[in-house]
Amino acid sequence: MIGLFGTDPYWQELLRQEGISFTVGTTELEKLDVLIIDRIPSASELAQVRKFADSGGGILTDSLCASAVWPQLRPRKQRSKYIVPDSSPLFRNVGIVDLNTDTWLLQQANVGTTQNGISAISVGRISRGWCVLLPFRLSTVLAATGSKPRVFYARTRKQVYEIVATVGRGEVRRLISNALRFLLAEVGLPYVHIHYCRPGQSGVFGFRVDTDFDSLKNMQFTRKIADEVGMHFSWYINTKAHGQHLTHMRNSILQGHDVQIHCYEHELFPDYENNLIQLKHADSILRKAGFRPIGAAAPYGEWNPEWNKALSKLGFLYSSDFALVYDDLPTRPVIDGKPSSVLQIPVHPICLGRLAASRADSAEMIDYFKRYIELQTSRFEPCFLYGHPANIARFPSVIETVLKYGLLRCGSWSSLTDYARWWQERGKAEFRVGKQSGKFVLETTRQKPELEIMIEWQDRYRCLPFRSGSFDLDKLSWQPLPPRVAFNRRTVAARRHDRGLIGKEILRQLRKRIQIKGRHSK
Ligand SMILES: [Zn+2]
Repeated sequence: MIGLFGTDPYWQELLRQEGISFTVGTTELEKLDVLIIDRIPSASELAQVRKFADSGGGILTDSLCASAVWPQLRPRKQRSKYIVPDSSPLFRNVGIVDLNTDTWLLQQANVGTTQNGISAISVGRISRGWCVLLPFRLSTVLAATGSKPRVFYARTRKQVYEIVATVGRGEVRRLISNALRFLLAEVGLPYVHIHYCRPGQSGVFGFRVDTDFDSLKNMQFTRKIADEVGMHFSWYINTKAHGQHLTHMRNSILQGHDVQIHCYEHELFPDYENNLIQLKHADSILRKAGFRPIGAAAPYGEWNPEWNKALSKLGFLYSSDFALVYDDLPTRPVIDGKPSSVLQIPVHPICLGRLAASRADSAEMIDYFKRYIELQTSRFEPCFLYGHPANIARFPSVIETVLKYGLLRCGSWSSLTDYARWWQERGKAEFRVGKQSGKFVLETTRQKPELEIMIEWQDRYRCLPFRSGSFDLDKLSWQPLPPRVAFNRRTVAARRHDRGLIGKEILRQLRKRIQIKGRHSK
């Protein structure tokens, strides 16, 4: 059993994303296999935590909490931009972990390095047990909601970049889930969690279209591509630009597809009132045309808490904004100390347009998206791409090849909205796993045919139906985990260009706003 020592909402949300069974505010430490220390223990609790380590249990915490328990540890404060992976199992299928926050480094650190080449994470024995000591406070890292230009490595002549969250939430979560896999394995236990996909599926593939100011002709063409590859897209409508065509589009371009809100005015507002007005307006235009939106994707992938509050007020199920989260499992942003009712359904932030701006040729574009699809499927994680009709019409063979490859690797497609609905149900499922007379016992409150439990053990995995039962690790028929995707060292060199992008980005933003102003005045 994994136990959270305190009640930190960021830790709880991350463990729910993974779909693992855990206890909160745990006091009976002797019942645990792995203890996550998410707050500094009080003076009276210190002996209890040390006793747990003496008993041989695994500990996952940050270096500040650890130094309160073991004063011989002396963390040194340093601002860290990111952690570069090494060959440790903690970095299995993990890329550069973007932090851009204060970290506390230990002399004992031996895994991963900061941008300055200093060791970042400490993995080793404390007393009889194993521990993983992170150099960052999870709540501090995940509370940061800023965004900035980031280079995404591609084999192109010019840098490929987009404005995304300063924190790589997906990599932070994957690093932590690998730490849990490692600590559980050290005490002889498998990693058991609710699968990220529907039963029988090894991946999730989807495509989001932002209609922006595109022509009907380009949107018709986009629909044709969807029909040719045999999938439905998720369309996010600019209701001001396309509102008058929606009734017609409903019976043609959008028929049978997932239709949600992009915007009324193509911009995100800093305040709650304006975001609310814009969302209500867009919602009423879509409703008049016969649609029932429950999701949104803000212009430019931007996000702020006021946008989230407006979505929550109107009862929206989800939003998809890479300025907050990208390349991750769905998550609920923590707002005012509580997970929001509005889910985030992350997409990969680089679209065809960004690759075209970097003068990528067709082969380079296909190579870029194929590598991303391969990485996500190796992680069993969803693979949602996005684009705009104009670029789809400009590079039809690229998009067709990419979509066909995504379908082949992931096995099927899903709309973002269907996946959000499924994820919402997944979040309600609870189970316990324990050991009784040599066998593992799964206990679920209710049987859920739409979910599976995934068991990972020594580079192998097995999915079981989500219902109570027991299993013997030696007798399960296992499948090998997909091979580890090698970390590309060139991504480190690419990261050093992030700073030079800021001036370029200011110009791009200015050009975008001028273009839009021009369109508004027409
Ligand atoms: Zn847009």
